[in-house]
Amino acid sequence: KRRIGILTSGGDSQGMNAAVRAVVRMAHVKGLDPWAIYDGYQGLVDNVMRPLAWADVQGLLRLGGTVIGTARCLAFRERAGRLTAAQHLVENGIDALVVIGGDGSLTGADRLRAEWGSLLDELLATNRIDQVQRATYAHLNIVGLVGSIDNDMSSTDMTIGCVSALHRICEAVDAIEATALSHGRAFVVEVMGRHCGWLALTAALASAADWLFVPERPPLVDNWEEEMCAHLKKLKDRGQKKILVIVSEGAIDKNLKPIKSEYVRDLLAAKLKFDARVTTLGHVQRGGSPCFYDRYLGTVQGVRAVDEILRATPETPSPMIGISNNKITVEPLVQAVTLTHAVSTAIDAKDFARAMELRDPEFAT
Ligand code: ATP
Repeated sequence: KRRIGILTSGGDSQGMNAAVRAVVRMAHVKGLDPWAIYDGYQGLVDNVMRPLAWADVQGLLRLGGTVIGTARCLAFRERAGRLTAAQHLVENGIDALVVIGGDGSLTGADRLRAEWGSLLDELLATNRIDQVQRATYAHLNIVGLVGSIDNDMSSTDMTIGCVSALHRICEAVDAIEATALSHGRAFVVEVMGRHCGWLALTAALASAADWLFVPERPPLVDNWEEEMCAHLKKLKDRGQKKILVIVSEGAIDKNLKPIKSEYVRDLLAAKLKFDARVTTLGHVQRGGSPCFYDRYLGTVQGVRAVDEILRATPETPSPMIGISNNKITVEPLVQAVTLTHAVSTAIDAKDFARAMELRDPEFAT
């Protein structure tokens, strides 16, 4: 039986388990032998992997996180680490990998495949594998699935986990709003997303935030503090009891200086005399059970990943499974990684601007 490895890598995200389950079950349907590689690339380097039976993945759909573990593995960034990883793959008889992770993990996957031939040559030259193994495992197939709460990957409209994280943020902000209204307070809520403002942007839309900072759209003016305070003062003067500002963790000003939540809070307190607080949502955004969308996306993309493993030839570039216009897509992984550095958020900026007009008719254009 042909053996395929599955690993989850980078930050965990809700729906990764759905993808693991789908890959394992579809592999069994297709007569393959699926193996879990534990803790991302660390499991490859340390040789921690085992077969998963059909029943091993029952009950996974509703679980957040990833039951096969994830890690950030420094050793895999170096050729020596990838050499050991290649040796363990060959020793365990694995010639195909499904990698579920963010852009870093998929970059690592692509690198492993690009170096595969030379890694095997080095293993053979140092007697860590034999001639038969060199010939049997001459090609490594890799398929990438994007698991990330940040929704920061090109070539897919949504990443597995981002919608559940958004739900978590909305729940938290709803709770904060109740107390903010009761006390007449201003809250600065910091959300995750690294260099991508998708979570902040969509959360601001869904929770009717009064002001928003995202990395992709720094304030256009130097004196953004005055601009923000003038707007929020108007809301306060008009009788609005609470103020909600959402700050993406990677927010910057036009000189690329970070905009810190505490700084925004201090401005609201000093200039507008608000009782202002910061809430950093942190890892609660990754927690909890996945929403329907992430269960669905993980499942359909996991199924497709197995199809792509079976279809791959030595010549086909490693694919990344995405979704676009509600259709599952398959693009070269390397292209998606390259494009990722050139795109901003996946939401349509014009639609968003229209929705934000609902905050205050005076600002409608
Ligand atoms: P998230 O979006 O949640 O942060 P990610 O996959 O982008 O997920 P990273 O920390 O960038 O997270 O990468 C995860 C792991 O992938 C790293 O710890 C490392 O093992 C591997 N990796 C990342 N970049 C490379 C690279 N350029 N070469 C080899 N391996 C890499």
